[in-house]
Amino acid sequence: MTATTSIRRAGSWIGGRRVSGSTTLPVREPWTDKLVAEVDLADVRHVEQALQLAHNARGGLLSVPAHRRAEALHQASAGLLERQAEVAAAITRESGKPISWSRTEVQRAATTFRWAAEEAVRWSGELQRLDSDPSGEGRLAVQRRFPRGPILGITPFNFPVNLAAHKVAPALAVGAPIVLKPAPKTPLSALLLGEILAGCGLPEGAFAVLTVDDDVATRLVADPRLPVVSFTGSGPVGWAIRDAVPRKHVTLELGGNAGVLICPDWHSDSDLRRAARRIAAGANAQGGQSCIAVQRVLVDQEVYERFLPLLLDEVEHLAVGDPWSPTTTVGPLINRSAAERVKEWVDEAVSDGARVLTGGSVEGALVSPTVLVDVPPKARICQDEIFGPVLTVTPVNGADEGLRALDDSRFGLQAGVFTHDVQTAFRAHQELEVGAVIVGDIPTFRAEQMPYGGVKESGIGREGVRAAMEDYTEPRQLVFSEV
Ligand code: NAD
Repeated sequence: MTATTSIRRAGSWIGGRRVSGSTTLPVREPWTDKLVAEVDLADVRHVEQALQLAHNARGGLLSVPAHRRAEALHQASAGLLERQAEVAAAITRESGKPISWSRTEVQRAATTFRWAAEEAVRWSGELQRLDSDPSGEGRLAVQRRFPRGPILGITPFNFPVNLAAHKVAPALAVGAPIVLKPAPKTPLSALLLGEILAGCGLPEGAFAVLTVDDDVATRLVADPRLPVVSFTGSGPVGWAIRDAVPRKHVTLELGGNAGVLICPDWHSDSDLRRAARRIAAGANAQGGQSCIAVQRVLVDQEVYERFLPLLLDEVEHLAVGDPWSPTTTVGPLINRSAAERVKEWVDEAVSDGARVLTGGSVEGALVSPTVLVDVPPKARICQDEIFGPVLTVTPVNGADEGLRALDDSRFGLQAGVFTHDVQTAFRAHQELEVGAVIVGDIPTFRAEQMPYGGVKESGIGREGVRAAMEDYTEPRQLVFSEV
């Protein structure tokens, strides 16, 4: 089943209006490799207009009462749900994401906006006594957090609506204007979000969605009218942005090679079956193109032999193929060259001694879900982010070795630990250098309100609605004397 693929036109949203441009960006459908849309790239004068409007909107947006900003955020949430089918189809068309996952993504984005609406009215300050020391006698302080300034949000291709929501919704909740620059491979759904936001009664300049090429994006990063850069994407681009603007407030949500550990106490048949099912799903959903997709599976040797066939059974029964089919869970990668790169890494590991237990083939942009064992630890497929449906499975001996292996990564986004033992859970929490440890499940779990982000090469700062609101603002004191 394939949705109709007429060529669409779309373009940036600036000042609540759709603008056209003189050059266009082609958007291809990963599943068919056909041209499905032409998106107008914003001209220099439109980019300038968006920047100036954001700059001018600083005070205005902040003085919009919280209940009005919350109302606009609720409207955005409702608008996404009303147009869920249309936005989901745009995601699948531009990214190849299976349609059921695209629907879930729109639902999640609606939740992100709703949560931001609720936080917008809870967002408050703090009263501080200063007389705990004689020097502060007779003084009292009010602390409020104010926006650091207009925000530049840059998003990747793999969650084109919900990651845009995670930039835009918290910004509007705290009263900070935001310019969103979506990924050029997947601009359509973010532009639909722009259209929805344009109907939410926000002041001019509160938001813009700008489709630009990466050269113009570099200029946006450098522009002093956008003092905050919130970037989600690959490590090399993210760290280069941080180096380019060391005086700006930069948040980086980057990649990883997430691991999961199965401890010896996770040993009943139902335990192992559940771990196998969750790991197969977490490695392969959306073709493994998630920053927290399971990539490295470490299994205690006591349960390794029983676990492996269960995992292979789950992986081999995944519904792979046409992303428009409602039952598909593993669709194509973003394009053919991404699939070829994944194949190259698998072949390289095999020539170094790894064995493919299932998968390993490529057809167009589709990579068959792949399980590898006997992978040399130094192989690229262990060390780097594969961003494809590939798992490496390695036996470990005991909790010490297992936790050490889990932590043996340049990255640190999230880790999963299958254990019933609360002591192991606390140890993992304390010892693993990651943004979150998920106990009894895979690392591929994210809730919209949860602080989310990584350490080491996976980035700096946290998203998740409330955490992003804090990140976008800084505290400012108002001290009253002689009170
Ligand atoms: P990418 O780094 O290629 O692109 C991300 C964004 O950066 C795009 O909008 C792109 O146009 C823009 N960009 C590229 N060059 C730029 C420049 N010089 N200046 C400003 N912007 C520039 O990433 P991608 O391939 O779209 O996404 C995949 C990556 O994103 C993976 O590494 C994945 O792990 C990561 N990711 C991280 C998270 C997270 O929350 N940690 C979530 C999703 C994806």
